[in-house]
Amino acid sequence: MEVIKVIQDELNNLLEIKTEDGYTVEAVHYRGNTLCVSSQVGCSIRCTFCASGMNGFIRNLSFQEIVDQYRLVVESGYEVKNITFAGIGEPLLNWQNVKTSFEYFKSLGLKVSFYTTGFPILYFRQLLDINHNGVTLSIHSVYDEKRKSIIPNSQKVEELLEILEEHIKNLSSRKKKLYSLGYLLIKDINDSEKEIEELIRISKRLSLSVSLLKYNEVEGIPYKTTPDKEYEAIFLKLRECDIKTTLSNRYRTRKIGGCGTLMINRLNYTTL
Ligand code: SF4
Repeated sequence: MEVIKVIQDELNNLLEIKTEDGYTVEAVHYRGNTLCVSSQVGCSIRCTFCASGMNGFIRNLSFQEIVDQYRLVVESGYEVKNITFAGIGEPLLNWQNVKTSFEYFKSLGLKVSFYTTGFPILYFRQLLDINHNGVTLSIHSVYDEKRKSIIPNSQKVEELLEILEEHIKNLSSRKKKLYSLGYLLIKDINDSEKEIEELIRISKRLSLSVSLLKYNEVEGIPYKTTPDKEYEAIFLKLRECDIKTTLSNRYRTRKIGGCGTLMINRLNYTTL
């Protein structure tokens, strides 16, 4: 593997890394010393908002290819203290290599967190059981049919919530803080008052925090960003209901390293 290009802005550094067989994967170094790594070349989940999964799945990355992203980033002069599996690919669909990489990263003293759609469920259970430093379950809709239209290869919402609920029920409040729900707001798709009420109900039931993500518009994908005013109103509503809520931080709303946009930096798509 070799770094073929580094794209920088004032906050993020996106490294395009070429595999031995000629594919390209992205790793993003965020200020704050967090490295977001990819787990697959392409992605078969095919979230309809995501430029990274647009061309479907090509292959899994090996253990060596996952840890090489870290090695290459460090060799390029960046400090890394945290790893997050939030780049291209669903980590659970490459679970054995991801798990071995997780163990390697932990042995180096790094903190390791995950973003996942929870598919497949067998590995979702296993992920919850490892000594991770954070799991965000990307739900994006509280309704099964709508969730399927956003995340085509996905489990039922209630099935995932029950697993999570069962897992966290006996955890200390400190450990519970390691779990959250990821909710990508998309204008007129999942940001209605009714759906947000339901999100609040679910978050309260499980005592989970919510990571409220802002959609990065991409040419060729018909979704629109929930305007700032409504985005903030939804954030305040969740907070008023005592739900710990985080907004997309400024690192994740950028063309370089923004959620769902990684691949557009090397394809002919543009953020709007
Ligand atoms: S958001 Fe993640 S899981 Fe969904 S298609 Fe993109 S890379 Fe895959």
